[in-house]
Amino acid sequence: MSLINQYKATHEGYLPIRVLQYNIVFKFENSNPNFLTEIKKIRSEYGLSSDIVYGINTSRGVGGKLRGPFVLNDKMEIHLQETFSAYLWCICCSLIIATYHVSEPDNQYYRDRKCMGKRIMSYAQSLIRGYHDWDKSKLINPELYNSRDKNLVEKTNDLFIHSINFILCHEFCHIKLGHCSKNNHLTNEERREREIEADIAAIDILAYGKTSQEFMKESVGITVAICSLLFVRESIANETHPDNDTRIAEAVSYMQVDENDTSWLIACISINLFQELFNLNLIWNQQTSYKELFLHLSSQLE
Ligand SMILES: [Zn+2]
Repeated sequence: MSLINQYKATHEGYLPIRVLQYNIVFKFENSNPNFLTEIKKIRSEYGLSSDIVYGINTSRGVGGKLRGPFVLNDKMEIHLQETFSAYLWCICCSLIIATYHVSEPDNQYYRDRKCMGKRIMSYAQSLIRGYHDWDKSKLINPELYNSRDKNLVEKTNDLFIHSINFILCHEFCHIKLGHCSKNNHLTNEERREREIEADIAAIDILAYGKTSQEFMKESVGITVAICSLLFVRESIANETHPDNDTRIAEAVSYMQVDENDTSWLIACISINLFQELFNLNLIWNQQTSYKELFLHLSSQLE
């Protein structure tokens, strides 16, 4: 077994997620075949800043609360924080491991990786509270890894790129839909509606010009992106953002995937991880599909 090292001197940042920085920008600009043209149009209409601002907001030992991608309104810049990217990568990895436990329970590699799934989840949780180093010698990561983990790291990278891209497209849609100008006097209800509107518009961007096979990857990424928000806070309800379980249900339903699609399975697994993290006792009755199971669990979270 050998070590694989992806680091290059051009990679900025402190965390091993830095090796994927350029992949994020490339995927965003190629969200669909017409997207670069659309970016240019929005740029001239709304003064959208040319690049995604990649924030290395913390230095070693200096804390900084986790913050998802956001638009700086007066500059129309989309900001992406390194710690958030790290958080999302870890959630993706943990969800992939948990999904294999359900879909391929006899797969020895994933059985061996169960403990790593929990450890990488705890590391993600630690980032919510502030910056923490990502110990590359003990935790799986995209920069320096053992060749036996190559497949898992590559799967995680791919899911992460799709997932973070949905969040960036969601932010882009806030600009495109005019949400970023004069939104100071909105009610919480109006703000929640805007979140769903941005989700739907972002899904449309990612579906455009894709075959159903290609869209399948997008749909899983979209689901994981929204599910990742479940773990950020203890209470599922959120004053200005729609309840996260409602947001998952709205987005996955809009994508019209099969009731037993991986997206619904991931949504159920996310609720399971959520209940483990926060010691909830949800009732898991047998249901006819993963979609029904998700709705059954979600109804208990009110
Ligand atoms: Zn939003």
